[in-house]
Amino acid sequence: MMSLTNKILIAMAAGIAIGSLANSFDLTGGIIESAFFFGLFDIVGKIFVASLKLLVVPMVFVSLTCGTASLGGHGRMGFMASKTIGLYLLTTALAISIALTLAVIIQPGSGNQFETDATYQASTAPPLKDVLINIVPSNPVAAMAEGNMLQVIVFAILFGVAISRSGEFGAKIAKSFESLNEVIMEMVMILMQLAPYGVFCLLAKIFYTTGFDLVQQLFVYFMTVVLALLIHGSVIYTTLLKVLTGLNPLRFFKHIRPVMIFGFSTASSNATMPITLETVEEKLGVKNSVASFTVPLGATINMDGTAIMQGVATVFIAQAYQIDIGLIGYLTVILTATLASIGTAGVPGVGLVTLALVLQQVGLPVEGIALIIGVDRLLDMMRTALNVTGDSIVSCIIAKSENALDIEVFNRK
Ligand code: ASP
Repeated sequence: MMSLTNKILIAMAAGIAIGSLANSFDLTGGIIESAFFFGLFDIVGKIFVASLKLLVVPMVFVSLTCGTASLGGHGRMGFMASKTIGLYLLTTALAISIALTLAVIIQPGSGNQFETDATYQASTAPPLKDVLINIVPSNPVAAMAEGNMLQVIVFAILFGVAISRSGEFGAKIAKSFESLNEVIMEMVMILMQLAPYGVFCLLAKIFYTTGFDLVQQLFVYFMTVVLALLIHGSVIYTTLLKVLTGLNPLRFFKHIRPVMIFGFSTASSNATMPITLETVEEKLGVKNSVASFTVPLGATINMDGTAIMQGVATVFIAQAYQIDIGLIGYLTVILTATLASIGTAGVPGVGLVTLALVLQQVGLPVEGIALIIGVDRLLDMMRTALNVTGDSIVSCIIAKSENALDIEVFNRK
């Protein structure tokens, strides 16, 4: 029997091939387009993404409550949290630095061949003060209903710490949460069986509607982002994993293939989260006490791929408008793009919205976003694949440092 991962891989290749092939024929308005690409494929794809999303809130809440309860309320959580956030910030800052360096060398926006009278309406970002205050939920039920991940994380940690301090009463609740956690993991397994169909439908529709025409026009920009994503994924991640854990990077990447494919197909770190958590625990051997914290946090604040796109896009726009932002400008980009990627929600396309923040900070025209919007969907898929890889790698590194990585599981085929 073919393994599920192979089935998903084949589905991915078939979806891309059929979508791109159909795109090259003129099917507009025809029966094939309405019955399949905008009909069946669209329906199945959307149902698939919805079924992943439905798991996110219950999974984060239950899993993180279990994780925190098992750690006990003895300050371990605080230390682990600082390490995790530090590593997430470090990888993101490295990501933008690579992006800026490549963009400055390759110069994707030079040559002044771009129409710079484009228009783009940026939405205003909330002030940092409100962002901080809003981390603590005033109503946990509302937080769950709205899927506000940071608030759910805060509530789950508090709840878990309280369980661990409540003696025999807490122990009873902890036991039932552990059972609940098993049940939710089983739900993930059930949905994974549908993954090949979901992935095929999502990709067939996306590649049918997107096509590669715009990629040709923005080829150099597109390739600079792709190159930076590849370098970050292969050089930085591999080195960090090898140096900080001694684990075999090839095995790591083999294990997380489904996570990357889900990130690519859904373009959403959030929707991918159930798969990331399941894979990090079951395939990489990270204990629940670590994974349940690092993965949801990463899906919410760690976006290395997004930061890369924002770095290259900033340089591209500066060059297209022939504005020199100078060294201070570049340093500002590193800082603001790190913050912007933290503020980017793990859903499709948001990275482009928070790019406005970075551009404003260095005095570049926000309308510049209109120049790159055409190829953003494809890049969104690729950068999300990197975003979720980053979440998994940091999880692994933190687990190793906390003695919470089961090496036998990691080394399993
Ligand atoms: N789609 C990305 C994610 O979910 C965010 C972005 O860059 O737009 O990770």
